[in-house]
Amino acid sequence: MGLETSLPAETPEIPAVTRVPAFEDNYFWLVHGLGGAARRVAVVDPGHAAPVIAALDAGGLTLDTILVTHHHADHIGGVAPLVERYRVPVYGPATEAIPLRTTALREGDIVALGALGLSFRVYDVPGHTAGHIAYYGHGALFCGDTLFSGGCGRLFEGTPAQMLRSLDKLAALPPETRVYCAHEYTAANLRFAGAVEPDNTALQQYLARVAALRAGNEATIPSTIGLELCVNPFLRTRQPAVRDAASQRSGGVLADDAGVFAVIREWKNGFRG
Ligand SMILES: [Zn+2]
Repeated sequence: MGLETSLPAETPEIPAVTRVPAFEDNYFWLVHGLGGAARRVAVVDPGHAAPVIAALDAGGLTLDTILVTHHHADHIGGVAPLVERYRVPVYGPATEAIPLRTTALREGDIVALGALGLSFRVYDVPGHTAGHIAYYGHGALFCGDTLFSGGCGRLFEGTPAQMLRSLDKLAALPPETRVYCAHEYTAANLRFAGAVEPDNTALQQYLARVAALRAGNEATIPSTIGLELCVNPFLRTRQPAVRDAASQRSGGVLADDAGVFAVIREWKNGFRG
């Protein structure tokens, strides 16, 4: 279970982020403080305490804060034991049951982590769950199970229209934004994306790169918003090729963007590529 730290802080404004793999395909993220605070970290979505504790110990790191995107067990399972051990604050969505939450967050809130020199803006991104939030700051997006590389989260508690609006918010972030999602689903997502858009050359190139990475058991995350705009069918529901594929799939002309999105999402649910 190798820990990898992406983007060492070459400039003071960009925090290093350490990837902590867990369970089958989860990633928990350690966001390092800037400058002299590089050994203090916030953890995003700690679904299990043990790998977080191991990563902290291995790196000589101090846990400062817990950030949670939504209430699913594989994102919150480690919160209580980590709080018991480290006595740190817990930020999470206002409308979901997050254990030991100390600060309830809504759209537009700013999470200022003074000891780390970091601040993040909160986005409401309902769809996967009703109260799901994302954290954006310093060129990095922590989006839980809303946006994946090449895909998006299942709609457990929201509608296609809600999820489309949520993804539109994230798609409007600067293209260089690094996307730290919570699962390594990229290869399977791209097999589906290829069925939707067989003629997308950017997608074919990315698929080859991802296949090589996964063959070496390497992570494909973080992605970027700019890359996702080129390859992710759930960010491309206004593209003629995606609309045509959705219309063919549904056997009729689709009324609106949410209708296209709904067909693509349903298609993915049943896809075995
Ligand atoms: Zn989830």
